[in-house]
Amino acid sequence: MPYGYNGKIIEIDLSNRSNKVREIDESLYRKFFAGSGLASWLLYNESDINIDPLSPDNPMVFMTGLLTGTPVPTACKASVCSKSPLTGIWGESTVGGFFGYKLKKTGFDGIIVRGKSDKPVYIWLNEGILELRDASSVWGRDCYETTEMLKNETSQKAEVACIGQAGENLVKIAGIMIGGNETRAAGRVGLGAVMGSKNLKAIVVDGNAPINVFDLDSMRKLTKEITPLIKQNTKGLTDFGTAGSMQAVEVNGDLPIKNWREGSFEEGAMKTSGQMIAKTMLVSHYACYGCPIRCGKMVEIKTGPYKGTKAHGPEYETCAGFGALILNEDVYKIAEANDLCNRFGLDTISTSGVIAFAYEAYEKGIITDKDTGGIKLNWGDGEAACGLIPMIANRQGIGNILAEGSRNAAKILGRNSIEFTVEVKGLEMAYHDPRAFTSMAGNYATANRGACHLEALSYFAENGAYSPMIAGFDKPFETHGFVNKGEMAAVM
Ligand code: SF4
Repeated sequence: MPYGYNGKIIEIDLSNRSNKVREIDESLYRKFFAGSGLASWLLYNESDINIDPLSPDNPMVFMTGLLTGTPVPTACKASVCSKSPLTGIWGESTVGGFFGYKLKKTGFDGIIVRGKSDKPVYIWLNEGILELRDASSVWGRDCYETTEMLKNETSQKAEVACIGQAGENLVKIAGIMIGGNETRAAGRVGLGAVMGSKNLKAIVVDGNAPINVFDLDSMRKLTKEITPLIKQNTKGLTDFGTAGSMQAVEVNGDLPIKNWREGSFEEGAMKTSGQMIAKTMLVSHYACYGCPIRCGKMVEIKTGPYKGTKAHGPEYETCAGFGALILNEDVYKIAEANDLCNRFGLDTISTSGVIAFAYEAYEKGIITDKDTGGIKLNWGDGEAACGLIPMIANRQGIGNILAEGSRNAAKILGRNSIEFTVEVKGLEMAYHDPRAFTSMAGNYATANRGACHLEALSYFAENGAYSPMIAGFDKPFETHGFVNKGEMAAVM
């Protein structure tokens, strides 16, 4: 009996509506611990490196990790991997919520999707039984509506990973959304467009397969022991989410301001912080599977077309991108922008990144009112950003160019606009300024998927969130200095 994993994945070909169960040798689990490691092995060995990411031949892999679904705190993740249409290289995006847990409970560790359906479909994988179902009723609908409708069609206990209109329209910064309005996102590198290119609206999973643990009693005992410590050390996340760090991040110089051009946003950081969200619009807290931290925030949307509805509150990256990056101090507009991205199925980092690029292009006269349909992209105007989001998702007007991501948009617009795109390998930079925590320069430059802040997470070691000794260094790092920073990023 395997422990932690099921030992098999299911491979689905949408072109001929076939599927097969595939046993995975234990040696591969021992080598890669499942997750994106095993996904990378599968993709490396079984796809052509020169493949067009939006062609039917580009496989995509949804994979759980070895610990996913066990009692280990926060062990909820699933990875989605494929060749990225945004960067043209290795694409990987990881998501929390309950999808990974439910996927493992189907009795499979993962799903490989190949081919392209001739009409919109969704995958319904329940107790190991697979159905390809017609998705015409949800095609064109947003991620909240899709999640609700597909749960009604399948099971209220099922979990849904779906795309919105952005993925359907092959927007290269489209993500895959989980959990309806309690949103979690496999946001980065445009994998929503890969699903869209396959006419695959959603994957819905449920099941009751056992997740075997070799020594479950010891795992539970350790989990019980460590949980109070986790709660004690993450109280800020519980109270205010990741956006609770906004003011500290601004003081450290880590917060990117005005498309990375300016260095101070003191009052704005306070006005757009997790603390301000808690004061003005917080409704409740929520958690991913098995997580005692509960960093998810449910808020009431106060502006825009969905005013009065309840939805996932903006996290740090979203507050930074739709706040400081465009000089917007209106936290309600940030919540609205976040909600729109979640509904349309857009990555909030890349979307805010390409929007900040558009503001600068507008300032320089490269984009005009004619291109934007009259929306004035003036710094500080959060309403304008909210106006651009549907245009990007639906590829309307200037949105059709921005939907290609910053690097491609600059190539199309020309006039030296490439000079003020902020990306690595085509992926918009996450909102941690390498001029504050200098290890992030090496981190961004070398991360496999492009400008990813998570691959090394080295700013955490630099800002003292944990001891650098974990990474083999004997004393704290000097902020803004360079000594040992490259080495540390490499180790991390
Ligand atoms: S609730 Fe927050 S801290 Fe907990 S697993 Fe989900 S994303 Fe991570």
